[in-house]
Amino acid sequence: MIFANRISSLQPSLTIALNTKARSLRAQGEQLYNLAAGEPNFIAPSPIVEAAQRQLSTGDIRYSAAGGTLELREAIVDKYQRENNLSYQSDEVVVGCGSKELLLHAFMATLNADDQVILAAPYWLTYREQIKLCEAQPIVVPFDPQSPGLSVKQLEQYATEKTRAVVINYPNNPSGYLMPGDELQELGAYLQNKDWWIFSDEIYEYLLFDGSNHLSIVNVCPQLRDQTVIFNGLSKGFAMTGWRVGYALGHKDLSNQLRKLQSHSTTCLPSFIEKAALVAVQQGQQLVQQEIAIIAKKRRKFLALLEELSDLSFTPPAGAFYAFVKLPEHITSALSFSEWLLDNYRVMVVPSEAFGVDGYLRLSYTAPEQEVHDGVKLLAKALVDYPRQGTNH
Ligand code: PMP
Ligand code: GLU
Repeated sequence: MIFANRISSLQPSLTIALNTKARSLRAQGEQLYNLAAGEPNFIAPSPIVEAAQRQLSTGDIRYSAAGGTLELREAIVDKYQRENNLSYQSDEVVVGCGSKELLLHAFMATLNADDQVILAAPYWLTYREQIKLCEAQPIVVPFDPQSPGLSVKQLEQYATEKTRAVVINYPNNPSGYLMPGDELQELGAYLQNKDWWIFSDEIYEYLLFDGSNHLSIVNVCPQLRDQTVIFNGLSKGFAMTGWRVGYALGHKDLSNQLRKLQSHSTTCLPSFIEKAALVAVQQGQQLVQQEIAIIAKKRRKFLALLEELSDLSFTPPAGAFYAFVKLPEHITSALSFSEWLLDNYRVMVVPSEAFGVDGYLRLSYTAPEQEVHDGVKLLAKALVDYPRQGTNH
């Protein structure tokens, strides 16, 4: 069989593979401590679910508009004005099947073969693969734990005449890092003088803790509005990962390209889901306040548990629902350790190789509290028991 060149170097998503594996282990009745989950575990608030059910019960489920109905796009415009203090027009909003679809389409719409896109490790693994799918080159800025955001100095070092875009993601998956406003401004001031696209993935915006507030690069540098695309969606803030609702905000010329691509791929969002999405977007953050308060409480307990593990070091994450923890020096492969951990202790974690960094684990704390507690305790035991290289210990 002959396949296209573009597919041969494409890696499947490890996070999705782990998610699938977790489901299948559970379906087989296996005990599992899932610290790998990339989704909150609450149920979407009932007004959202009821809106979908109401629409479904009419039986009138047809093609909807490519890029989202006007009603939904206008609700997103209002949400951005109300919650984010940013003004967009409805023709600058595109709704898609998850922000993942919109990211892929944005890369397809802007990158030619060999163009370069700068992203800082640790990065969410899908950006890299999607950029490669477009036959462009992901240029990875190595992780600097002392300076976990993307700095101007790093950009200067990695920029070339082929640079076309930069991807930023705050709060960050996997590190939970939130770039402080002054650093974001500095970054913005530098980017203002470049004709690069800025792809800003802000999907974890509601998941910020200890008094941190979300700011988009467009808030701190309004001049960047037309070269920036903001990606957001309902997956994380509303725990609606399986509903597949994402949206992008950016200049209408880019939005038109995204709509065109969608009209030839997924066509539109399932129309009954659009009705549910409308409720989520209209009611916004206040609809999930209680659920997010529960996540905040779990986070405190989880971080307290991690602090007891002297073998691991980490910076408390400002946002998302992950901690990015450094393994002790003698564990040279996070990937091998993770596989061994799952086989021997039934604890599932995501090794940092997935995010372009060696020697770390991404741990999430959205599983039920007892499962997270037991998972961390087993991880502590595994760190002691893990065979050192060259010994049969
Ligand atoms: N961006 C980041 C940083 C993510 O972690 C995810 C995880 N699903 C996505 C985008 C994509 O989310 P979705 O396609 O469900 O909107
Ligand atoms: N984004 C989540 C994660 O990083 C969900 C899986 C995926 O879409 O990659 O685990």
